[in-house]
Amino acid sequence: MVSGQVHVQADRDVCIGAGMCVLTAGAVFDQDDDGLVVVLAENPGDGDADAARQAVANCPSGALSLDERAPADL
Ligand code: SF4
Repeated sequence: MVSGQVHVQADRDVCIGAGMCVLTAGAVFDQDDDGLVVVLAENPGDGDADAARQAVANCPSGALSLDERAPADL
């Protein structure tokens, strides 16, 4: 099966700076000086996509969202 691409977004107005995303997917998310999330990789590759999914699921504030894009949609 060919995997689709993952697209992640972060709402910095909702982020509470808990840092869970950075611990879970440090290649995809970072935090700025105020502790708010910064997306490093909006379209993480296969190696980081699972970590990104996990980070989105675990974000305590619901600031993160993720679209699964099938190859046909690209
Ligand atoms: S896990 Fe959620 S609340 Fe915590 S820093 Fe990341 S986006 Fe912000």
